[in-house]
Amino acid sequence: MTLFEWVKNQVSIHAIIGGYVRLNRAGTYWKGCCPFHNETTPSFTVSPDKQIFYCFGCHAGGDVVAFIAKVESLDPSQALNHIIENNGLEIPPQLRGKLTDDGQTIKRRRRYTDVCREIKMWMNSKLLSSNLAMSYLIDRKIKKEAIEHFSIGYVPGGLDSMNSFANEMVRKGFLREDLVEAGFLQKAGHMFRSPYEERIVFPIHDILGRCVGFGGRVFRQGDTRAKYYNSRESDFFHKRKLLFGLDLAKNAMQKSSTAFVVEGYVDCVAMVDAGYEETVAVLGTAFTHEHLEVLARFVKRIYVVYDGDKAGQVASLKLAEMCWDVNVDLFVVRIPGGQDPASFLQNGGDIKPLITHAPDIFTFFVKTLGETFFEQALSDKLAISKKMAEVLGKIKDYFKRDLLIAQAAQALQVPFDSFKGLVKKHQAQSENGEQDDQVAEEQGGNLNKISDDSTQILEERLFSAILSMGSDDALLEIFDEDVINCISPKIRNLLFLWKKICSEENREKTAFDRFIDAVEDSQRSWVLKCCVEGEQSDSSQNIKQILSRLCRLHWRQEVVRLKSDIEKARHENDHGRLGELLESFTLLRRKMQIKGLI
Ligand SMILES: [Zn+2]
Repeated sequence: MTLFEWVKNQVSIHAIIGGYVRLNRAGTYWKGCCPFHNETTPSFTVSPDKQIFYCFGCHAGGDVVAFIAKVESLDPSQALNHIIENNGLEIPPQLRGKLTDDGQTIKRRRRYTDVCREIKMWMNSKLLSSNLAMSYLIDRKIKKEAIEHFSIGYVPGGLDSMNSFANEMVRKGFLREDLVEAGFLQKAGHMFRSPYEERIVFPIHDILGRCVGFGGRVFRQGDTRAKYYNSRESDFFHKRKLLFGLDLAKNAMQKSSTAFVVEGYVDCVAMVDAGYEETVAVLGTAFTHEHLEVLARFVKRIYVVYDGDKAGQVASLKLAEMCWDVNVDLFVVRIPGGQDPASFLQNGGDIKPLITHAPDIFTFFVKTLGETFFEQALSDKLAISKKMAEVLGKIKDYFKRDLLIAQAAQALQVPFDSFKGLVKKHQAQSENGEQDDQVAEEQGGNLNKISDDSTQILEERLFSAILSMGSDDALLEIFDEDVINCISPKIRNLLFLWKKICSEENREKTAFDRFIDAVEDSQRSWVLKCCVEGEQSDSSQNIKQILSRLCRLHWRQEVVRLKSDIEKARHENDHGRLGELLESFTLLRRKMQIKGLI
């Protein structure tokens, strides 16, 4: 057994992929939104039986190692190491020698997250022993449980504190350079200082819970530095994709299919403390399309919670635009009275009615637009009206669209019909674009292409059915000589290979695994697709039917070809050739009669 096989047998592909994608059961397999392409309906499939995944949208597919390699941008042996480390697998002695060098990327990432974890633990212990920092958090009603849940920390200021921490880390086998690489220390002349000194620090984790950075907040009276200091962008820290608290919130999100997005770490802590476990915070940036895509893998509803004064026009337009191509319902919760979610909750505010009555993004967009529209310059007014018509034109529910058009027309103080006309114009443009593509595609095809396509589709179905059955009876049916000749050579060879592998004895690997190993790289994705399709439909009953349709299609094409050759031979008075062709034609008709096709 290879190390790859052993690892694959030790872990559950469903559990590992479930760490990245929200999967729902659908019969014997699981379905979710693909993490590799942007989609509105789930086409990403995981089969625990076959231990594979396949996406019908972007055709990504393979085993658990291939998934990790793709999602974490690693090569296969790095991905293998990643799985071994993250699942704490103890490799049996006989396989240990087979562990290949894990490459630089994974070593660097490992070292980086190890350093961040040590820093996090040190900061957390410093917070618990600092009266000043603790009293600030207690004032803000942040409880001890929350401090532990989010591993909140504090960095005492001063050169001595930095030196003693650096020395402690050196004793643990880290270098000062590691602390610099993690963004914790900066060189200032001959000294090392930290931008996090005298700040409350919120560790930031990736979706799997590995510490990858920090957000530090000032808290002392008179501290004039920037309110927040966040880790710099690096190979392991991307603000546009990371969300504070996601690793802790994702299970609750999966259960309720809901997420709350706030703007600050303290807001996030306060929301979770108030019972909204599904809350995450952006890292000092706006809510991005990348964030939306990450959350859309787990939830159907997202509530963006804004401080009342920040929920402006620009923000709402951006959110409305982002929702076009992602299949989630987005709502906007506006905290009243110039408060942020944390201060609102701490002052005894009840956020529940705000959530219950939160407008969806389109309604919110129309409403906020009306509030400030008349303060705008004329050119801005025109641009806003156009943008608004564009946004509303994308709404598929016509009743809701008309309702919003009425609201918008009122806000803009233009007649309903003329604004509706503008929306319709945008709608027609976008729909025409889609139709044009379709027409071009249909016109491009000809009869030959259609029959080729049908053969391809039938062969795909046949192969799916055979893989899902794996029984010798079905194989015998195909290996009737007349029938096998109706199948295209490429698929024929794959079927012979499958038959050969099924007949071999091997206890270490399933026939399917051996087959996947044996097929050419260029065909692997196609085979995986067939395999997943086979599980989804009850095609095992249909093998005979598919075969007879394939034969009929193939023989009809033969008849057309023979008839045209016969005509040609007649025209050229080639009697020898004509005799041969007529004989073939009679033979073909007999075959078709025997199979009951004519
Ligand atoms: Zn995909």
